Amino acid sequence: MPKRRDILAIVLIVLPWTLLITVWHQSAITPLLAARKCKGHSSNSPCRGFYDDRHESRRDSRNAFTLKEPCTSENTKDIVEVVRTEYVYSRQPPWSDVLPTLHVITPTYSRPVQKAELTRLANTFLHVPNLHWILVEDSQRRTLLVTRLLQETGLNYTHLNVETPRNYKLRGDMRDPRIPRGTMQRNLALRWLRETFSPNNSNSQPGIVYFADDDNTYSLDLFEEMRSTRKVSVWPVAFVGGLRYESPKVNTLGKVYGWKTVFDPNRPFAIDMAGFAVNLRLILFKPQAYFKLRGVKGGYQESSLLRELVTLSDLEPKAANCTKVIYGWDSKWTDKRQAPGKQDQGEIYIYCNTTVKGVRQPYCLLQAVHSYVSIQA
Ligand code: UDP
Ligand code: MN
Repeated sequence: MPKRRDILAIVLIVLPWTLLITVWHQSAITPLLAARKCKGHSSNSPCRGFYDDRHESRRDSRNAFTLKEPCTSENTKDIVEVVRTEYVYSRQPPWSDVLPTLHVITPTYSRPVQKAELTRLANTFLHVPNLHWILVEDSQRRTLLVTRLLQETGLNYTHLNVETPRNYKLRGDMRDPRIPRGTMQRNLALRWLRETFSPNNSNSQPGIVYFADDDNTYSLDLFEEMRSTRKVSVWPVAFVGGLRYESPKVNTLGKVYGWKTVFDPNRPFAIDMAGFAVNLRLILFKPQAYFKLRGVKGGYQESSLLRELVTLSDLEPKAANCTKVIYGWDSKWTDKRQAPGKQDQGEIYIYCNTTVKGVRQPYCLLQAVHSYVSIQA
């Protein structure tokens, strides 16, 4: 009877599968049943924590997965449930009521690499407690690109704009050192600080002002060094002014007496924009101090502000009395106008020996400035 044999064969095949699927299905729904049972419990039952924790873990969305023991009732005590929570990037920069605020002023202008530069800066600033970023666009109006970028960073920021008049702008590809770059933007930020904070309000949180151009790379140590600035603090800066680093010269008493620079060391303050920070109170008490826009020789921008604020003997050397380079890198190599190795406006571009399509690559230098680089004079 072939028909009976066929039926038997089918039953023998189907039956184990049915059993298998039933067992599998059972084990899949058990945690749900356990959870439902818990829901019915009173508020002081151990199950309550499970539901609360679920909300907690959703709020703390940095944990992508959380292991939970749902409850300890008899039926479910050996069930461990994996609660999958949504991953949302919600990095809040740390804030303290006792630390001085770092007001970091950045002029910026539209170009192909702008978003990349600002992203790198924002990623650095997110590691710094009490940082307030004053980003000033060189434009007629605040752009959507920068507005969105700032909103998405989660940083504390103020977004301003002022356009540099055409007659101050570069002509073609020429880089004229007498044409100020970012000066009007930095001055607007200084004005904003003076209009926002009062010098006589002793209750206001102390602050430090720092000028961080958007094409530089900043080491995290730098921000902690500048936080204790009483008037004006200074430190060495890597890869500027035609040198591996530029530095204030400091005597055994810890006083600045000159400048280790190639480009015009006789400047009153022969220092790069990235090499100093100013206490906010000093900015507020000297309302006439701005960067000069007209009649300033190349390299004298920094001096035009600093000479209004302090004398040489007031300077506070940081970074172990200026023996460590804690900041560096002007990433102009991204700028198409710059031929590699070409010296320009006192800045030299030091490249490694690796060559890609005839262009020497600067990547190994980036490594060097990320950590402390000891100076061997
Ligand atoms: N900058 C600006 N408008 C310009 C050129 C530059 O706002 O027309 C900004 C730029 O984004 C940077 C700062 O000013 O934050 C200094 O510019 P750059 O690095 O080109 O000049 P340098 O380092 O040679 O002084
Ligand atoms: Mn620059």
